[in-house]
Amino acid sequence: MSFLLCPCKLCKKAGAKVSLFEKLFRTFVVHPFIKQVFGIMKKELQLSYTRFSSLKEIPADDLEVVKAAQDATRKAHAPYSHFHVGAAARLKSGEILSAGNFESEVYPAGLCAERSLLFFLESNHADDPIVAFAIASNPDERECYPCGQCRQVLVDVQRRQKTPFRIYMTGRDSATMVDSAEILLPFTFIL
Ligand SMILES: [Zn+2]
Repeated sequence: MSFLLCPCKLCKKAGAKVSLFEKLFRTFVVHPFIKQVFGIMKKELQLSYTRFSSLKEIPADDLEVVKAAQDATRKAHAPYSHFHVGAAARLKSGEILSAGNFESEVYPAGLCAERSLLFFLESNHADDPIVAFAIASNPDERECYPCGQCRQVLVDVQRRQKTPFRIYMTGRDSATMVDSAEILLPFTFIL
């Protein structure tokens, strides 16, 4: 009798354990009532991203930014984690800038490559918006994704410049790309 069940997860979960009467009661009375009166509704979140199974599939302009991020891993100062991260950005003017992560002997004082680059850009190139951003690491067996704090600052910068930018998160020969920083941080904090 499962076709009689309300399709929501709460009812599905209870489905096998309840009588036919209760199934009908839930489907036609309880749940519509809850939804209407309290506005409770289960929702799903969909994220849109592009996968590149090889870096060669990335358009030439953006591949240049990815290569700059890979090169920037050599700028990293990571004597403790030995995880060298590089970030690079192409600005609207065409200029490409990059940075590496910097670890401090006082560990929390260090900074990720992404935020090192973003704060520099916001101080020195705020009138030249980012169009593409890339992250790479060494070791590079797996794709390098930004930490939560960097995701927040990526969103902050995107909001400030008022135009979305592509973000490539890359490994040795694969990448995941999102068209907007906000995709990386759903339910973003708003002051
Ligand atoms: Zn970070």
